[in-house]
Order: sequence, then structure tokens, then C-alpha cells
Amino acid sequence: MNPADAPSPHMDPDTFRTLGHQAIDWIADYWQHLADHPVAPPVEPGSIRAQLPSAPPEHGEDFPALLADLERIVLPGLLHWQHPRFFGYFPANASGPAVLAELLSAGLGVQGMNWSTSPACTEVEQQMLDWFVQLLGLPAHFRGTGVIQDTASSALLVALLTALHRASGGRTRDHGTDGHRYRVYLTRETHSAAAKAAVITGLGLRALHDVATDADGAMDAADLETCIRADRAAGATPLMVVATRGTTSRLSFDALDAIGPVCRRHGVWLHVDAAYAGVAAICDELRWVGDGVHHADSYCTNPHKWLLTNFDCDLLWVTAPEALVGALSVLPEYLRNPASASGRVTDYRHWQVPLGRRFRALKLWSVVRWYGAEGLRAHIRTGVRHARLFAGLLRTDPRFTLLAPPVLGLVTFRLNASDVANRGLLDTVNTEGTTFLTHSEKNGTYFLRFATGGTFTEDRHVHEAWRALRKAASAGDEGEQGAAMTSR
Ligand SMILES: *Cc1c(COP(=O)(O)O)cnc(C)c1O
Repeated sequence: MNPADAPSPHMDPDTFRTLGHQAIDWIADYWQHLADHPVAPPVEPGSIRAQLPSAPPEHGEDFPALLADLERIVLPGLLHWQHPRFFGYFPANASGPAVLAELLSAGLGVQGMNWSTSPACTEVEQQMLDWFVQLLGLPAHFRGTGVIQDTASSALLVALLTALHRASGGRTRDHGTDGHRYRVYLTRETHSAAAKAAVITGLGLRALHDVATDADGAMDAADLETCIRADRAAGATPLMVVATRGTTSRLSFDALDAIGPVCRRHGVWLHVDAAYAGVAAICDELRWVGDGVHHADSYCTNPHKWLLTNFDCDLLWVTAPEALVGALSVLPEYLRNPASASGRVTDYRHWQVPLGRRFRALKLWSVVRWYGAEGLRAHIRTGVRHARLFAGLLRTDPRFTLLAPPVLGLVTFRLNASDVANRGLLDTVNTEGTTFLTHSEKNGTYFLRFATGGTFTEDRHVHEAWRALRKAASAGDEGEQGAAMTSR
């Protein structure tokens, strides 16, 4: 056969339409019946791969065959993050309007690296970032300085590169850090993304300086001042403070009104990481999560955790975008274009690590339009209410102790027993499959975390999770008694 006469390997639009309906049906069914699945099915390492063919297919297959394998091989190998009784880590909300817009974005298939490579991709994004300045009550000077990053980790890396550019007067672009000793200040509670950024930038882990924390895990601003002075005296350059509004482990909040003036006095960049908690500022009564954010040189929060926008979507504001562009812009000939040369447009490729960029703003636009500010607030408030509900249930059972009153959508607690018993409880309850929780530690003490905020979670799911936890604790009691008896 003449290659020109060969049938097209592509999916024609009518087939796409039919199969697309099937795929959407599949997702709708998945969401509708999620509660019937164990949240975390048991999986043996390697057992999923073992079910896949060892070689790729030579001849194309039907799409329904993929859907069948999704059901048969993949589903049993997933931790169901959208399950209404998933209370682990922090939520990673998916939602109907977000997923549909994600699909539209994929269908458009545009690259938004330059304004000229899809002007609407850049301009919708700019407008969304300004909308969020209003929605979250952020300072007016954040307007026009925002960009969507994939994650809070990338936001931190980009901020660190910008801080280096500013502190070195642009020298790091050409010479790297050149043996210069820069220091980055954080606490034990700071997300590990800060350590990763130090590694990636070549500053290395030795650049990290741990600042003391108070009993609540918040950064001690007086100790920060002491550390900065000592480093200065020793010939190092204080570069950046990574402050957190809502730490990952137990939601500590660093006091920006105390830290900000220290940073300003010493010319140190202040990055504020509010990956999880920042979006809660959409509710007036929770606006305190952003207290002192006007001190920040860069600030980020993730709609992809608690704000109904499926992964990935992080909002970053850098109040000196020219430093950011200065740090990251490189201009090969093939990307030159009149619009960029005119200086009238924003080319977001200079605001991020990769060149190519997805049209993520479409997903955010869809979410904000579907829910409206009031719908988004209602979702956050439901998560807060569920955390209080769960904490209230815990208080009725003397076998448990709260580590602290619930904060936003997080309850931290322990079984009044050894760390080993607490680990055992987590393992028992997660293996049983009704619910799923995770853990952390505070000053060497192990504790359990219950994080609310799932898109599909209702009051009854919190009650069901509580019953499963109590049952697992009782099974543990019997186990301990049994062990005590046999040891006697
Ligand atoms: C979740 C979290 C991160 C990491 O988020 P990514 O977007 O996955 O990089 C960083 N910081 C804090 C405080 C977090 O809670």
C-alpha cells in the first residue's frame, strides 16, 4: 500500500466524541462509587507492573481496552485521594469544573511560554492572579506580580533564584555563587522543599541555618536576628528567610510582623510559604492566615490542595518581578518576537524553570466561576467544621488526647499509649480500609493527623472514620492485653 493511502492512525473527531463521553462517564461513576472502595487497598510492590505486558503493543488497540485495564489493574493499585473518607496528608481536591477545564486545556493544547505563543493563556492567567489578590485580601501591591507555578516547591526555587540574583547584584547569572557563602534561614517545621531548593541552586544544605522555634513551632524572630548578625560577622551573606503560614506537620504560623522588620533591616529576602493554609483567607474569619504578608518579597499558596483545583496549581506573587525576570531570562534567537521586543507584554517563561507552560489558568477560572467566592468559602468552612466535629468526637473518648485544638482543617492527636501503640493503630486503621490517616512527629513524639477538606466529604464520613478509628483502638487494646497475658 502506498503510505499516502494508509488509514490515519489518529482518532477521528466523531470517535473522540463517543469515547470522550465514555471517559467522562467513567470518571462520574468513579466519583459516585468511591465510598465503596477501600481508601488504601493493599498493594505488594511490583504487583501492578507484573500485570502489564512486558513489551509495548505493535498494533494499536481500542480505547475501551484501556478503560478495562484501568478498572482491573490500576484502580486496585491506587490510594484514593478523592475518597470521602480520605483524611491523610493534606487534601488534593479534584472537582467537576476543574477537571472539565483541564480537559479543555488539554484539547486546546497550547503552549503559553511567551505572550505571543497564545496571548489569552497569559492574559487569563494575569487576571486570575489579580482576582486572587482580591479573593484572599492580599496587599494591593501584589497586583500584576503573580504567576501560576506547578507547585509550592517550584515557587520556592524560583524565589530563591530571584533572591540570589538581587543579593549578588546580578553576578550569580554569569558566575554562579562563586564561592560566596549565602545563608538561608528556616526552622525544623519548614517544608523540605526549602532544602531541595538549596540543593538545586548549588547553595547546598550547608547554606541552611535552623532558627529556634517557640512552643507552638513558630519561628523565633529574636533568634533570627541573632543568627543573621552572627553569620554577617563570620563573613557570610544572609540571603533569604523562608517563613511559613501553616506548616505541613502541625500548622504552625510564623509571625511575619516580627520577622518582616528583621528581614528589611538586613536586606534579606522574605519568602512566605502558605501552600496549604493561604487559600483559607478567602473567608473573612480566616483572613488571619495572611497576617503580615505585606512584608513578603514572595508569597505562595496552592489551590491544588484545599481549593477544588486538581493538581497542579500554585499561585506565586513576587513583588519585584523585574528581579525574577532578571534572574531567569535567557533569549535564544528563535524565541525573539515583536510583541516581546515592544515591552508591552508579559512572557511567563521568564517567571519559571521550564520553557513550556500549560494553560492552567483555565482550570482556575472554571473553578472560580462555577463556585463563585461564596461557594469556595462554603467549601473551606465545611472543612473547618469537619475538623471541629472530629476533635469533638475525640474528646468524648478518654483513650485519646488532642495535641492542640484543631487548626483550619487539621486535627493532631495521640492515643494515650506508647509510640509503638500509636504506629500500630495507624497501621490497623489504614489496613482496614474504611478511612486513611497519616502521622508526623513533634520533638520526637509520634502523633496522628486527621486532615479534612475533601471535595466529597460529608459529616457522615467523619463519623464513619471516627467509628473505624475507635474500633481499631479497641482491637489494639485487646492485642495489648493479649500480649500482656501471654508474657505473664
Ligand atoms: C504541601 C506543602 C508544600 C509542598 O507543596 P507542593 O506544591 O507539592 O510543592 C510546601 N510547603 C507547605 C507548607 C506545604 O504544606
